[in-house]
Amino acid sequence: MKGDLLRKELGIFTFGDLLEHFPIRHVDKTKVDTIASLTHNNEYAQVAGKITSMEVLGEKRGKRLVVTLQDGTGEIELIWFQGMSWMQKALQVGQQYLVFGRLSFYMGHPQIAHPEIETFTAQKVGGKNFLEPVYPSTEKLKTRGLNGRSIGKLTYALLQLLSEKDLPENLPDHIIKQYKFISRFDAYRHIHFPPTEKHYAHAVRRLKFEELFYAQLRLGLIKSTRHRFSRGSVFGQVGDLFNTFYERYLPFALTGAQKKALREIRKDAGSGRQMNRLLQGDVGSGKTIVALMLMLIAADNGFQSVMMAPTEILARQHFNSVTGLLKDMPVCVKMLTGSSVTKERKAVLKACEDGSLNILIGTHAVIEDNVVFKNLGLAVVDEQHKFGVAQRAQLWKKNTIPPHVLVMTATPIPRTLALTAYGDLDYSVIDELPPGRQPINTVHRSESTRPQVMGFIKEEIKKGRQAYVVYPLIEESSKMDFENLMKGYEEVKSFFPEPKYWISMVHGKQTAAQKETNMQRFVKGDTQIMVSTTVIEVGVDVPNASVMLIESAEKFGLSQLHQLRGRVGRGAEKSFCILLTGPKISNDARERLKIMVATNDGFKIAEKDLEIRGPGDIEGTKQSGLLNFKLANIVQDKVILEAARDAAALILDNDADLGMAENLPVKNYLARQKGKTVWSKIS
Ligand code: ADP
Ligand code: MG
Repeated sequence: MKGDLLRKELGIFTFGDLLEHFPIRHVDKTKVDTIASLTHNNEYAQVAGKITSMEVLGEKRGKRLVVTLQDGTGEIELIWFQGMSWMQKALQVGQQYLVFGRLSFYMGHPQIAHPEIETFTAQKVGGKNFLEPVYPSTEKLKTRGLNGRSIGKLTYALLQLLSEKDLPENLPDHIIKQYKFISRFDAYRHIHFPPTEKHYAHAVRRLKFEELFYAQLRLGLIKSTRHRFSRGSVFGQVGDLFNTFYERYLPFALTGAQKKALREIRKDAGSGRQMNRLLQGDVGSGKTIVALMLMLIAADNGFQSVMMAPTEILARQHFNSVTGLLKDMPVCVKMLTGSSVTKERKAVLKACEDGSLNILIGTHAVIEDNVVFKNLGLAVVDEQHKFGVAQRAQLWKKNTIPPHVLVMTATPIPRTLALTAYGDLDYSVIDELPPGRQPINTVHRSESTRPQVMGFIKEEIKKGRQAYVVYPLIEESSKMDFENLMKGYEEVKSFFPEPKYWISMVHGKQTAAQKETNMQRFVKGDTQIMVSTTVIEVGVDVPNASVMLIESAEKFGLSQLHQLRGRVGRGAEKSFCILLTGPKISNDARERLKIMVATNDGFKIAEKDLEIRGPGDIEGTKQSGLLNFKLANIVQDKVILEAARDAAALILDNDADLGMAENLPVKNYLARQKGKTVWSKIS
């Protein structure tokens, strides 16, 4: 019964889970406070004294048992709203008691509601040789009598039953010595019931290290296994297609960073091992062309490629730009999305299967089971954070030799995070923007200046430029968000009336065809303004657009703002990003806007984002689940993280098979853990 509750409410299934249900803090019950010394600074209080009065006050719902306790320095009120008659029988006026609980003040007088109370004997005070743990619990558990205290009792009892051999050491001796760690067994005992604060700190440090070390090690093992054993298609040669494109059709010179990334990727793809590589680059850094050139190398070697984008708009855009670039080349490129009509779909599927197709571009429709390739050698996943791990895993089944996977992300991930979350992937970064780009001018304006802002946009349009106006979309189907967008559209229209101006609008409730039509009108320059929700957040590329106006900017996260801003500044013209907000903004939001105004650097923004929001919320890591550490926090525990990473790397370098005697504790631990945690093969 209670077991059921623990499972449902706290996810505690096993003794191991119970041990890992860590206290949120500890309270020191070895000390007794004098009542006179209690202040608002005491969250909890433990006092000892005599009960001087006891009475039931109030009626019905207000009914309560009020007990006064005196200790010679002052008096405190103890209050019960439940179990009154039971307490009345148990307590006696004139007796000495030891009382503990959460302290509050009512009209300046200290009081404790529902305290822990027991008859006082001198040895009870200081008789405990540890700090008392306080556990997270839930309301439901509390009403069933399973409060934090009883969880503590269970844990205490469990730890009494265990010995060293039940929690065997899982770190190699030299690591323990190097970092002066306490044993694993002691760490578990002391994180729950530490004799002193210092013991607790040691326990936490060791367990955090362990957690981070194993996360890194597991990912590293996946990577090293793949490096050593997985077969991959061999892109051995750079052939005619690549060379012709490079010499004749590439519309610009590649940046140094693009060349470097391409070299790294080519080397990987030619090695005979399967490539799994993350290609990072700030918005506008030119990842697409790198992917395209790799797809040409694939074709040169007789392999098909697939490129998967998170939205239909983006897939269409990639398709248009790729077919544009390759229009004079003998490369067969087709598109497949959820809204492809049957006839077209049939033709595409046939071309995939008979091998006449070289490059398939589309949404997740491209990984559905009915898409069969003759010889798929490469899968490019664009803007990967919009795809779940499971969807990517589908790719592996598409060929007997799994295709190379190139994952591209435009949400720059701080290096710490990238190495932690994507430790099983190889990593390339494009850290340079194409030449001639001017930094985007970002300003924060209040809604009251809307007329001036619109006037500014008018000026830009007069110069032949285009503008985006973006509204927040908090929930995919939220009615309110939709209404806001419509109101906004009418408002924009009042400033920019037809037929002098034309406006496109794109939002989630439109069909793919409607979105596409509106998008294309903007791309072609038939409309000057694009009003939309965040559906245009990723990838959209209209170099002539020079203004990004973000409405209710306080509602957006940092990386989202940066993504949106990245939609402008893609051409040679000076571009602007205007963050419009109402009068009420939280401090966090103000901080975000300040950062946006201060820097254009996506990596800096990502670092800040990590600081403000913590790792749990960083886009692209949520689904991976790899950053959900129980104890460690990769921002605050950077020092431990780095130590753990170094330790894991050293083991992987010297002994990737874990065959050395000194690494036996690691090998054994991993073997015991097998099957407990699902570690995705692909990420
Ligand atoms: P992202 O990395 O955000 O996906 P894109 O691949 O969409 O960026 O490229 C952004 C824009 O920059 C595109 O219009 C592309 O044609 C252009 N571009 C890419 N590489 C270069 C380069 N080396 N020189 C000039 N323009 C480039
Ligand atoms: Mg892109």
